Amino acid sequence: MIPASFDYVAPTSVDEVVSTLAEHGDDAKVLAGGHSLLPLMKLRFAVPAMVVDIGRVEELRGVRDAGDHLAIGAGTTHHEIVHDPLVRQHCGLLAEATSMVGDAQVRHRGTIGGATAHGDSAGDLPAVVSALEGTFVAQGPGGRREIAAADFFQGYLETALAADEVLVEVRIPKHDGWGFAYEKFNRVAQAWAIVGVAALVRRENGSVAEARIGLTNMGAVPVRATASEEALAGADRTEDAIRAACQHAADGTSPPADLSAQPDYRQHLARVLSARAVARATG
Ligand SMILES: Cc1cc2nc3c(=O)[nH]c(=O)nc-3n(C[C@H](O)[C@H](O)[C@H](O)COP(=O)(O)OP(=O)(O)OC[C@H]3O[C@@H](n4cnc5c(N)ncnc54)[C@H](O)[C@@H]3O)c2cc1C
Repeated sequence: MIPASFDYVAPTSVDEVVSTLAEHGDDAKVLAGGHSLLPLMKLRFAVPAMVVDIGRVEELRGVRDAGDHLAIGAGTTHHEIVHDPLVRQHCGLLAEATSMVGDAQVRHRGTIGGATAHGDSAGDLPAVVSALEGTFVAQGPGGRREIAAADFFQGYLETALAADEVLVEVRIPKHDGWGFAYEKFNRVAQAWAIVGVAALVRRENGSVAEARIGLTNMGAVPVRATASEEALAGADRTEDAIRAACQHAADGTSPPADLSAQPDYRQHLARVLSARAVARATG
């Protein structure tokens, strides 16, 4: 359980991070909170020759009001996000779901950038950022580019980030007035979701005008429950209507089988948790 030897740098600017990544290519790895990277290095599933610690890059920290969206620095910790007044006011779903990540120790070290750049669809935040239709901002040697959440997650532990790019910011559109809920089913001993559901609902005149449902751990990438989203658009805000629409929450999904659950049980959980989350988001 001892990582292979590696070199270590701790730059203080994004430009320095990018030039180090460009110099070392696939041999370099960004280190944020280290909660996913270090276990992989100890198991020697990741063997970077150069570790680039972004913990001292101040410009990667904090939450900024950018008009119609919040710009969240990739190095902002889960704890900072949970307690940030802007996030709580404009993107309540993100605050609620992040408060359910791991335990206090994990939330003090782990970052939104690490939790999404890692590309693990069992993590809570990829499905949440997908439901919120966020945008990722990456910086590489050629400058900055924006990547929509729908294009960012490409496969299990695979994202659209290139080896010489650092994730600098996650942009979350403000969802003022939307109802929201994050529901997850997990073992008591740990907080990793067997299945999680992020629901957002825009209400109008007693019915559901628009609903978005992001599913955690229901495939290699975060999945949107599009059949249920379509069934909910214009539906009554009644328990029966919500339950009927959420019967389709697992349509088209291919969830994993592991020690915690088989695919059919995960699909059952997706339907049940979707109905709960949408009912709560509908208010
Ligand atoms: C005990 C435990 C329980 C946990 N429980 C949960 C849980 O319930 N739900 C949940 O969602 N997560 C959980 N996690 C994971 C937690 O959310 C981690 O914080 C997250 O997986 C990784 O974030 P990090 O900042 O530690 O990233 P790191 O481990 O430092 O990095 C992870 C990966 O992302 C890359 N990376 C990091 N930042 C950037 C960047 N800015 N640009 C480019 N690449 C980058 C790294 O190179 C690495 O490949 C748990 C972790 C532990 C240890």
